Amino acid sequence: MRLLDAHCHLEDEAFDADRDEVIGRAVEAGLVAMVTSPIYPEDALKALGLFRGHKVVKIAMGLDVAEYGDEDEVRRTMELIREHREDIVAVGEVGLDYRILRTGGPPKERQKEVFREFIRLAKEIDKPLVIHSLWAQRPVLRVLDEEGAEEGRVVLHAFGGTPEDVSFAVSRGWFVSIPTNVVRSRNVRRVASATPVEWMVLESDSPVLAPDPRERNEPANLRISAEFVAGIKGYSPEELAEETTLNAMKVYGIG
Ligand SMILES: [Zn+2]
Repeated sequence: MRLLDAHCHLEDEAFDADRDEVIGRAVEAGLVAMVTSPIYPEDALKALGLFRGHKVVKIAMGLDVAEYGDEDEVRRTMELIREHREDIVAVGEVGLDYRILRTGGPPKERQKEVFREFIRLAKEIDKPLVIHSLWAQRPVLRVLDEEGAEEGRVVLHAFGGTPEDVSFAVSRGWFVSIPTNVVRSRNVRRVASATPVEWMVLESDSPVLAPDPRERNEPANLRISAEFVAGIKGYSPEELAEETTLNAMKVYGIG
């Protein structure tokens, strides 16, 4: 079985003690690649130090939406992305997060402004986008559409939209990424049901969204979600793994 983790955070300090073992277990589980997404400039530099030119860990660079009010962080992230365009496979995660409005996060209009800049930057350097859309699925789809996000160039990470949102995304040729907590979340299951396998990729979002909420997540757990999603879609686990892996390889230009 070949698997590809379309989104995780392997530079996270949660993996500082045993990162090599985690990657080793993933390779043993059939992972051919993992796309790690640092979301702060310091983490981006850490990820470059750890993974630049790595065989199985590929880097996407983005910025936590909570930082969009900080002009310096936004500029630094954009500079790093431009400077390291040859070292990364995507821009992201970037997007909108309306849950953080409750805790003093940047206002909607500011979030959209910065999100648009990242979309334009991705286009300028010809990279796909990895999208964060917590409590803001519909607005994210609208902004992507207004910015003319292209077919096959968007990964909607841990997408939590309605079946109608999924249909809209698929009509535009954007990939819907199903996280490992699909095994315990009714909402994620609903997204997986609504997503045609042709437009599906799998992710762990490690260290979070584990199949067991008490545990740290790791990319090897994609095996569990691949089997579970295969059941939902009426595929064999091998077929589901292969098709979602090919989708992710295509969008990220891996292999
Ligand atoms: Zn993430």
